[in-house]
Amino acid sequence: KFITIEGMDGAGKTTQIRFMKEYLEDRGFKVLLTREPGGTIIGEKIREVILDNSHKEMDSVTEALLYAASRAQHVSQIILPALQRGELVLCDRYVDSSMVYQGKGRDLGYKPIKKINDFATQGLEPDLTILFDIDPQLGLQRISSRGKGDRLEEEKLQFHIAVHSAYMDLVKMYPKRIKVINANCEIQEIKKEVEELLKNIIEE
Ligand code: C5P
Ligand code: MG
Repeated sequence: KFITIEGMDGAGKTTQIRFMKEYLEDRGFKVLLTREPGGTIIGEKIREVILDNSHKEMDSVTEALLYAASRAQHVSQIILPALQRGELVLCDRYVDSSMVYQGKGRDLGYKPIKKINDFATQGLEPDLTILFDIDPQLGLQRISSRGKGDRLEEEKLQFHIAVHSAYMDLVKMYPKRIKVINANCEIQEIKKEVEELLKNIIEE
């Protein structure tokens, strides 16, 4: 099975993904936890180019293609082989992130993003996507309080609102694949909701 995790910064994805891995391993699954660029050397180099704070002039199309390129390497080198070995793959962000950040956030449109990513991923789609849904204002508060901030995390509230509405568009476009979790509440409460979802999936 191929499960992807989505949501805006500050939604608590990282924490919940660790819980998910534990939960699934406790039930006997061999789990590959990965995130783009997935530790591929080529992908890491691409990511450095994308996130470099001095690349303020980066064209949005360039950004979208770089994400897709990094994803292509990740899919062919890491994800597909793991699935072929029968492992359960948990991936922190995938094509949906490009749909929202580049398609909507950068205004490139969903269609072209879908098209380049279908090519990049050889058409590999997740069996399940868990979307951690957080109020854009709260998400922004959480990330400014932890004070990191790469080139992309510096975006303002308006950008976060656009990204949030894009995630809601995706939920309408892929109602079967994408399950929404309310991430405005407490960690333990979210964890319980996630486990409920996972329980259903692994019993399928
Ligand atoms: O998930 P993570 O916090 O590592 O994401 C890093 C940054 O990359 C985020 O701030 C997000 O805005 C950005 N991003 C993006 N397009 C993607 C994936 C992530 O702009 N396709
Ligand atoms: Mg983050």
